[in-house]
Amino acid sequence: MNFCSECGSAVVLRVPAGDHLPRHVCPDCGTIHYQNPKMVVGCIPEWEDKVLLCRRAIEPKYGLWTLPAGFMENGETTLEGAARETWEEAGARIEVGKLYTLYNLPHINQVYFMFRARLLDLDFQPGIESLEARLFSEAEIPWEEIAFRTVRATLEQYFRDRRTGSFDFHFGDIRTR
Ligand SMILES: [Zn+2]
Repeated sequence: MNFCSECGSAVVLRVPAGDHLPRHVCPDCGTIHYQNPKMVVGCIPEWEDKVLLCRRAIEPKYGLWTLPAGFMENGETTLEGAARETWEEAGARIEVGKLYTLYNLPHINQVYFMFRARLLDLDFQPGIESLEARLFSEAEIPWEEIAFRTVRATLEQYFRDRRTGSFDFHFGDIRTR
């Protein structure tokens, strides 16, 4: 950040009184511009023994496959965000289930929340951010073309759990891209 979003003055980086980390502070209007991690919400849309993946039509990771997921918007809940992203990216209607994986990505200041979800029908079609949306069985998953570590970890966990039928909540840290 270079300029104050409140008044347009140049900001300085300093530790405010009573704080312990440097922040962008506006010397003119006094606004402290805090920057905090972003939340990414998404889901595993399930249909019988298959899951719905989208092939990205945007950077980063153009052309690679992902579960529907994206940045949470102000004013919505995590469940609403997961359903919205699934609609936007895959044109798919879902019933969102339980929170399934949570990953901290401290190197890029993100936290991923992935839910299980039930696909309500097969009338899905890729949105403008996707080249394709299609169902994959475990044997069909394009493991070498998965866009993100978080998605790969979630899918690996999902297929491991499916063998036992026990889908406990999992969380962990991912520190590389
Ligand atoms: Zn200012």
